[in-house]
Amino acid sequence: NQPLAEVDPEIAEVLEQELNRQRTTLEMIASENFVPVSVLQSQGSVLTNKYAEGYPGRRYYGGCEFVDVAENLAIARAKSLFGAEYANVQPHSGATANAAVLSAIATPGDTILGLELAHGGHLTHGMKLNFSGKLYNAVSYGVDPETFLVDMDVVRDKAREHKPQVIIAGWSAYPRQLDFAAFREIADEVGAKLWVDMAHFAGLVAAGLHPNPVPHADVVSSTVHKTIGGPRSGFILSRDMELAKKLNSNVFPGQQGGPLMHVIAAKATAFKIAASEEFKDRQARTIRGAGILASRLVADDSRAAGVDVLTGGTDVHLVLADLRTSELDGQQAEDRLHEVGITVNRNAVPFDPRPPMVTSGLRIGTPALATRGFGDAEFTEVADVIALALQANPDVAALRSRVTALTDAFPLYPGLQQ
Ligand code: PLP
Repeated sequence: NQPLAEVDPEIAEVLEQELNRQRTTLEMIASENFVPVSVLQSQGSVLTNKYAEGYPGRRYYGGCEFVDVAENLAIARAKSLFGAEYANVQPHSGATANAAVLSAIATPGDTILGLELAHGGHLTHGMKLNFSGKLYNAVSYGVDPETFLVDMDVVRDKAREHKPQVIIAGWSAYPRQLDFAAFREIADEVGAKLWVDMAHFAGLVAAGLHPNPVPHADVVSSTVHKTIGGPRSGFILSRDMELAKKLNSNVFPGQQGGPLMHVIAAKATAFKIAASEEFKDRQARTIRGAGILASRLVADDSRAAGVDVLTGGTDVHLVLADLRTSELDGQQAEDRLHEVGITVNRNAVPFDPRPPMVTSGLRIGTPALATRGFGDAEFTEVADVIALALQANPDVAALRSRVTALTDAFPLYPGLQQ
């Protein structure tokens, strides 16, 4: 039982360097966050040793009396947080949750209708190399070419045309709220099940700052590690207790074997935190920060440098920078921000003229920095650093020191050693 640094110094070095990277740069990947130390504790605990196939009270292994308590807490807290009748907290990831959802509500060969990947959808919503595109007949709706918004008339027309068994509402890169009630109406009209994937915006929902899809959808899936800021993993919610049994059996044994009990315990803690006032304040700072970023990126000098913001702003935790008229493509812009110490990911804009590995956009998110403690003043400073970095011939060293001033002022995991 020697420490990691003795058993495997190379991996110990990776952990140390990654902690240092997270501390000294600004994390603005919209799908990332910083878990609290309490979550790190469960994830690095002896619960990782435990096999617990089955569900609380109905396990296929002995010795589950304590992990059952953790899973029951996670289930109860997830249900209460989102107003659901049913929760499954076992999915190892968002993708596994989605595979379980589709296998519970559709049969291979069925038609599924989701947001096009290139317009902000997710791989698991029907991409052709993903299980969802291989097993199901995946068709898609896109955003409007002028407004870049999802147009519910288009969704309705597509639904009438294709008669899908499942309609999917949810996104990985879309800066506005979806109209869940309108999706419900369309699903009812064509006899489809409505599945909402709230992986990105679940934290905003938990805080009451975004409409809750649970009352409208047959099934809602999510991750825990994006806006919620919990452990990397997924969960599934529903109001429909008739679907509950099917969803459970499609998670285990349908998609998974033994649940990750150390992660499930950490999910319980993340859901507890998500019910707090501090969490609401953090989500409010997250959304305000994204708004500040959007408004400073549509200023005249940014526009003159070819940087714009899709849909002109945001309602959520991310901004999609549009670089179609910039000298920088998505890759170059991502690299430029990396040089100044800001981590983002390039992202295709809808109708992108550049190839997917290059792209003409950036997806910039505020959840991790809000967790770090940033408020309006700091987000204003970050926005200005980004706007300057994306213009021609920026003073990279000066911008890097402005980033360092921010990371120094908001220490991450003070005292933590890896
Ligand atoms: N669903 C959506 C909308 C996502 O954005 C993502 C992650 O990017 C997932 C599902 C998949 O989550 P994971 O990476 O945990 O499999």
